[in-house]
Amino acid sequence: MFDALAERLEDTWKKLRGQGKISQSNIQEALQEVRKALLEADVNFQVVKSFVAEVEKNALGAEVISGVNPQQQFIKIVYDELVKVMGESNAPLAEADKPPRVVLMAGLQGAGKTTATAKLALYLQKQKRSCLMVATDVYRPAAIQQLITLGTQISVPVFELGTGANPVDIARQGLEEAKNKGIDTVIIDTAGRLQIDQEMMAELAQVKDAVNPDEVLLVVDSMTGQEAANVTRSFHEEIGITGAILTKMDGDSRGGAALSIRTISGQPIKFIGVGEKVEALEPFYPDRMASRILN
Ligand code: GDP
Repeated sequence: MFDALAERLEDTWKKLRGQGKISQSNIQEALQEVRKALLEADVNFQVVKSFVAEVEKNALGAEVISGVNPQQQFIKIVYDELVKVMGESNAPLAEADKPPRVVLMAGLQGAGKTTATAKLALYLQKQKRSCLMVATDVYRPAAIQQLITLGTQISVPVFELGTGANPVDIARQGLEEAKNKGIDTVIIDTAGRLQIDQEMMAELAQVKDAVNPDEVLLVVDSMTGQEAANVTRSFHEEIGITGAILTKMDGDSRGGAALSIRTISGQPIKFIGVGEKVEALEPFYPDRMASRILN
């Protein structure tokens, strides 16, 4: 495991060898390599800075373990810190005090929000939880149709009022419908813009206030690199997220966005999207992501 990082650190190790102990002076080059590896994995540069500072502190404070060479020990410290920051174990979807549970999906256009709405509905349906998907993206008629098509495909009902209604009213009425029908989980798909704008945020905040969600999941495209950090910061400051779904992890992204999202919002990544198909959703595991980021 972590062959790539070990290889990178080869030259640095030569200098460390024989010194037996990690010290302030001999660790700097190794930290520099970790910094580069994380930046290449698209972790936000400010996040990299604070992460590397923490690794340095941990490495300098580490007891030398007999039988383990300083290289192995250093890599383990980096790995352990990554897992720790990303949340140790898988964080399940929050439950509601009383049904229906309300999940609000947020994110930029193209991030994979509508697809993730259907993926999540299918995932929950397989656990015998009934779902209703609510289409509030009145700005793109295609978005409503897309949700209806996905709903038909997975046999999950969709609540919509066309493009003429107000998103807040649609969300509110969708929730009522779920209550009346005894549905377990309502997943509300919202409008996204290509870029963050105030109007979009204000509307999203209104929808949130109207339905008082148990989860606000930010859907982030893992391929957007450094931008994932800005998106997370804006959404978290403006509406407050409770978790995230990192999409398009079937591509060649190393997943550094996961570390950025978690560090910036303090909220866990709950799922990853691993394909265009509606079945392509998996729970997020911090240890697996740590390995991917380091390799
Ligand atoms: P929205 O605008 O945020 O609702 O985004 P969509 O759900 O319409 O997705 C935008 C595009 O990304 C579509 O072509 C999806 O098929 C694709 N997509 C969404 N999630 C994934 C994923 O996990 N992997 C891949 N490869 N494509 C995805």
